Amino acid sequence: MDHIGGGRLPGGVNLQRRVRCWECHRVVEDPYLDACPSCNGLLEVSLDLEPVKEMAPSDLRSRPFGVWRYTPFLPVDPSMAVSLQEGGTPLYACGGIAADIGVRALSVKYEGANPTGSFKDRGMTVGITRAREIGADMVGCASTGNTSASLAAYAAKAGIGCLVLLPEGKVALGKLAQAIFYGAKVVSVEGNFDDALRTIREMAEQRILYLLNSINPFRPEGQKSVLLEIMDQLDYRLPDRIVLPVGNAGNISAVHKALKELVEVGWIDGMPMLTGVQASGSRPLVDSFQAGRRGFTPEPGPETVATAIRIGNPVSGRKALDAIYSTGGAAVDVSDEEILDAQLMLGRREGVGVEPASAASVAGLRKLIDEGVADRDEEVVCICTGNALKDPETMMSQCVRPYSARPEVSAVMEAIR
Ligand SMILES: *Cc1c(COP(=O)(O)O)cnc(C)c1O
Ligand SMILES: [Zn+2]
Repeated sequence: MDHIGGGRLPGGVNLQRRVRCWECHRVVEDPYLDACPSCNGLLEVSLDLEPVKEMAPSDLRSRPFGVWRYTPFLPVDPSMAVSLQEGGTPLYACGGIAADIGVRALSVKYEGANPTGSFKDRGMTVGITRAREIGADMVGCASTGNTSASLAAYAAKAGIGCLVLLPEGKVALGKLAQAIFYGAKVVSVEGNFDDALRTIREMAEQRILYLLNSINPFRPEGQKSVLLEIMDQLDYRLPDRIVLPVGNAGNISAVHKALKELVEVGWIDGMPMLTGVQASGSRPLVDSFQAGRRGFTPEPGPETVATAIRIGNPVSGRKALDAIYSTGGAAVDVSDEEILDAQLMLGRREGVGVEPASAASVAGLRKLIDEGVADRDEEVVCICTGNALKDPETMMSQCVRPYSARPEVSAVMEAIR
C-alpha cells in the first residue's frame, strides 16, 4: 500500500497519512481517484498528529516563514518539495478601514504576495510535490484563472507537462497571460468553470493526467498554511472571526481543517467564526446557510465581476457549510458594486492592491457589521486571496485615465487642476 504509508521521517516530517472519504471514511489508496469509489464523497488526508503533540509552535520558528515551516502538518516528503518559496505573506493591520466600517480591529492577510500572486501557490507546492512522489508526468486543472497560473508555474519548476482548461472568455487577462507564459497547454472550453472541471476530471479518470484542482486532497493540505501563518503572526492569540471569499470552497475548508488540527495538538483551544463570502450572482452556499441546510443546490448560471468566485457548484461546498456551522460563523453575499467599492477602499485607504474576489471578504465584513451580524467589538482577519495585477481591466474600469500634458510645469499643473 505504500504510496500512502511510509512511516515517520526524522525532524517532524509527517508521512503517517491516509487518504479517506470525508463522508463515509473509507480509505482510498489509488492516487488517481479524486472521489470516493463507494459514495462519491470528497477525499481528505488524515494525519497522525501524535508526534506534533510533543512539539510547541516555537519549535517551528527557526525555519523560514512560509508553507514549508509547517512540515509536521504536511502529508508529503519535504526532501522532494517543489517550492517557489510560497507563503510567508504579510498580515497588514488595516486601522483605516476598521475605523471606516466600524470594527475594533481588522487585519488583512495579503495573499497577493505569493510567487504567482494568489494563495493557490500554497496548495500547489504540496500538490506538485505529491505529483512528483507518485511519478506523474502530466498534471492538469480546470480553472477560473489563478489555479492555472499557479499550476503552470509549479509544473515548469518541476519539469512536468501541464494542461489547463479555462471557461471561454471569462478569465482575467493577467491570469491567462501567466498560464501561457509559464508554458502550460491552455485550452479554452465552450462553457463555464463547472463544465471545464467535469471534462478534466474525465481525463484524470482515464489517467491522461494527475488532477490538481482543489478536489485533490493534497492541495488543501498546503492551503492549511494560511491559517497556520496567521496564528503564528498573532502569536497564537485567536481572532474572533476570519472572513474569506468562497468559490469552490477549498480554502475555507482547508482553514477549518487547520484549526481542527491545531486544537487536536493543543496549540489553540477555540476557533474563530469562519465566515464565507460569495457574490450575489453566485451564492448557492448563502442560500443554504439562510435555510439552515447542510447541502446546497448548484446555481446554473453564476455571474460576477469577481471571476475567481464565479462558481455555481462549489466542489467543497458541503465542507464549507460544515466549517461555518461548527464555528458559529456565517455566509453572506455581496453585490459587484460592493465588491468594487471594497477593492478601491483597500487600495486608497491602505495601499493594498487586491483582485475583485479578494475584496469580497472586506465587502462581506462590512455588510455583516452593518446588519449587526458581526459585532463592532470583534477582532477580524480578512484573507485577501489574490493580487490586483491579476485583473488590470477591472482595475482600470474603476479609475480615471491618465491626464495628458506637454512636458512643462505649467501644462502639468493645468492638467491636474
Ligand atoms: C481560487 C480563488 C478564490 C476562491 O477560493 P476557493 O478555495 O475556490 O473557495 C478566491 N479568490 C481568489 C483570488 C482565488 O484565486
Ligand atoms: Zn465515501
